[in-house]
Amino acid sequence: MKGCLSCAAALVGAMTLTLHAQAPAPATPEGLVKAAKRAAGLDYPGTFLRICVAPDNLEGGPGRGAAPPAARSVPARALWYAKPYKVFDTLYFVGTRIHSSWALTTSDGIVLIDTLFDYAVEPEILEGLKTLGLDRRKIKYVLISHAHGDHDQGAALLQSRYGAKIVMGAADWESTLPRPASAPGGVPKRDIVVGPEGTKIILGDTTIDVIATPGHTPGTLSYIFPVKDNGRSMVVAYAGGTAFNFPRRAENFATYRDSQNKMAKAAAAAGATVVMSNHTEFDRAYDRVRIAQLPRTVGEKHPYETDTATVLRYFEIGADCAEAQRLSMQ
Ligand SMILES: [Zn+2]
Repeated sequence: MKGCLSCAAALVGAMTLTLHAQAPAPATPEGLVKAAKRAAGLDYPGTFLRICVAPDNLEGGPGRGAAPPAARSVPARALWYAKPYKVFDTLYFVGTRIHSSWALTTSDGIVLIDTLFDYAVEPEILEGLKTLGLDRRKIKYVLISHAHGDHDQGAALLQSRYGAKIVMGAADWESTLPRPASAPGGVPKRDIVVGPEGTKIILGDTTIDVIATPGHTPGTLSYIFPVKDNGRSMVVAYAGGTAFNFPRRAENFATYRDSQNKMAKAAAAAGATVVMSNHTEFDRAYDRVRIAQLPRTVGEKHPYETDTATVLRYFEIGADCAEAQRLSMQ
């Protein structure tokens, strides 16, 4: 153990230097996309592809993509159904093949993170919790990363049936509340409103740092929270909104870029070594939750565990690619 403190100090120093060294980013769209590609490396191909290679709104005019995805008919179950799994000591996957929903257990109940499309709420979240031996009546909070149907359509049911408190960004409440009652999944009642300053959700022994990261939507929220792997603590940085399917305006990309930098700072300060997203294509959740079920050799890491520098590279992709888009519009 001797010298560990100075090791840690050197590591923090090196990370700070790295952050500073990256500050004067290449000032061309091409240079930024190259930097993002380096940041993605072999760890985050899905995110790089989605927002740097083929951004959703690249061809769109102003306003395209501003609305949440329209109501859709229910796709065949085989296309989306995924079995639930315990992934960390206190974190359980109850999402689909495409979208994540997580149950974070605490000493005083469950915090549910994101709620899927309405058709998946009962088979994935409610049945999933039951299969995993968790009591759905103990869901105390439901965190909505942003007000698009693939993450928020389960909110109203969980609120009305179990009394869970719904946590959403202020601007996303504003876009949610005027929805017609016939909207898929219904409309949750205004509950916990998170402003630009963010908030902390504290339940029993667990604190979730809720960080306002506007960009994907004006009210997008991201999270920093602790998990344990066989008793060993680690910190998760959860990215609440990724794709560029918002109105293609320079100020929107600047907002998005700033939010990524804000999350990188929060992840660095918390020493996050796990990065998660609400779409399985960005954090390979579908595969990783299954790999997490396999026995590990002594010292082998959890499939989600990496190091803080690798977590920070995730947020650099978003910042660089948003800035590349912003610059390309000038
Ligand atoms: Zn979305």
